[in-house]
Amino acid sequence: MVQKTLSSQTKHVPVFEDKNGWWETLPQAVPFAPLRSREHTNFVVVGAGWSGLAAAEQLAKTNPDSKVIVLEADRAGYTVSGRSSGVLMAFQNRGEKHDLELTRKQMRLGQFGLDHLRKLATTHNIDCGWSEWGRLYVSAGPDGDHQMDRMLQIMDEIGEVYEHRSTERMSHDLGTPFYRKGAFLGGNGLINPAAFVQGWVRHLPENVTVYEQSPLVKLESQGKSHLLQTPEGEVTADKVLITTGIHLRHLGLAKNRYVSMATYASMSEPLSDEQLNQFKIGNEFCLFATAANGPTIRLTNDGRLCYRNVQKHCPSGAIHAEPLTDIAKRHREAINSRWPSLADLKFPFIWGGALSITPNNSAIFGEMHPGVFATACGGMTMATVGGHLLADLANGNESSLLSDMMGLPSPNKLPPRPFLDLGVKWKLRQAAQRGAQEF
Ligand SMILES: Cc1cc2nc3c(=O)[nH]c(=O)nc-3n(C[C@H](O)[C@H](O)[C@H](O)COP(=O)(O)OP(=O)(O)OC[C@H]3O[C@@H](n4cnc5c(N)ncnc54)[C@H](O)[C@@H]3O)c2cc1C
Repeated sequence: MVQKTLSSQTKHVPVFEDKNGWWETLPQAVPFAPLRSREHTNFVVVGAGWSGLAAAEQLAKTNPDSKVIVLEADRAGYTVSGRSSGVLMAFQNRGEKHDLELTRKQMRLGQFGLDHLRKLATTHNIDCGWSEWGRLYVSAGPDGDHQMDRMLQIMDEIGEVYEHRSTERMSHDLGTPFYRKGAFLGGNGLINPAAFVQGWVRHLPENVTVYEQSPLVKLESQGKSHLLQTPEGEVTADKVLITTGIHLRHLGLAKNRYVSMATYASMSEPLSDEQLNQFKIGNEFCLFATAANGPTIRLTNDGRLCYRNVQKHCPSGAIHAEPLTDIAKRHREAINSRWPSLADLKFPFIWGGALSITPNNSAIFGEMHPGVFATACGGMTMATVGGHLLADLANGNESSLLSDMMGLPSPNKLPPRPFLDLGVKWKLRQAAQRGAQEF
């Protein structure tokens, strides 16, 4: 996997023509200045998402006399990392095939990521609405029911504790007869992801310098010398850690190893007391569909509904305005079919984000070229542990957790486009047909 020389140039930087509700409902964060000079540093981290911040923090702590530079194309917290549904999980399996030993490795890694983030939130008092509410898995049709049964079998096998929720109880608690089967699991965090990332980037160790609006547009690596260019500046570095999510391939890395899938979320205005009263479960919840076609729905602890669903193949990672009207309409209909009494509730925010999906439960992680390291893992906790361990790998440190990470399978090679496009389209259509009632 290690390439001898690396020379890449990209015009693909994150594009968002939408309104990220998590970000928009926060006070405006003071931006970090773009890179406008020539610098030399020990380490450069490219990307200030979950994996980039974890990598920068770990590099800075383990090399207190070194300098770490973070280059972020946009604003930290505005891009994919701050666009998720904000459900931090140590482990997630919605009934997919699994291998027990591999699952245990993933659980150890995910638990580290979750504990790490929980500790950061407490230590730095990050105002991200952290809640330990847990998550309620739900199904609304035969596809979801089947996945639920498979998922609970796996939970039994790995010793995860959950509580069954009857149809009647869910109908009472959630104020809707929409759901058929339910299982409640504790032990995860619920957050406003944009607030967490904004808070974290402001509490990095002092030997880290963050540049926002500074996309890496050119990378030249030959032997031990690495030159990174942004539109207005450049950095030479001893080691480079690339954590750009789905934009890895635009830098010539992990090509044909992952699918870039966009998913979309809508956020409502705050609910009135009367609207909140129908939720007997309390003033907060997180519903997680077991079927692939189903949504994640949160009632946030500041009283807004957040609905995430629709998946689209999105190789460029750009979120354009054009499909948003239709997606907003579909989200709206999904809320109405659960809670007709909320038909007048406004959803002023709709946004999307693209994440990398690898075919075989694997992770993109490792040294891609001498001195150039990269990772992309699915989900916020795995991305966090991925970044943290990438720093350990770059440092040459060993640990059992790093062995777990290195022991995850490498992603299988995917077919080239347009065959990939056709395959993804077929899979999405199948999931939509099978899980039509779940939407
Ligand atoms: C709507 C939605 C809901 C989701 N819900 C959940 C959830 O509930 N739970 C969960 O665990 N996960 C969820 N996810 C997935 C999660 O957001 C991602 O897995 C996670 O953000 C990956 O983190 P990362 O740091 O690896 O990559 P990213 O978050 O993609 O961060 C990469 C960073 O690199 C920057 N970058 C890109 N190119 C360049 C460049 N050339 N130069 C400099 N910087 C660059 C980007 O701007 C970005 O800030 C969701 C995603 C979406 C879109």
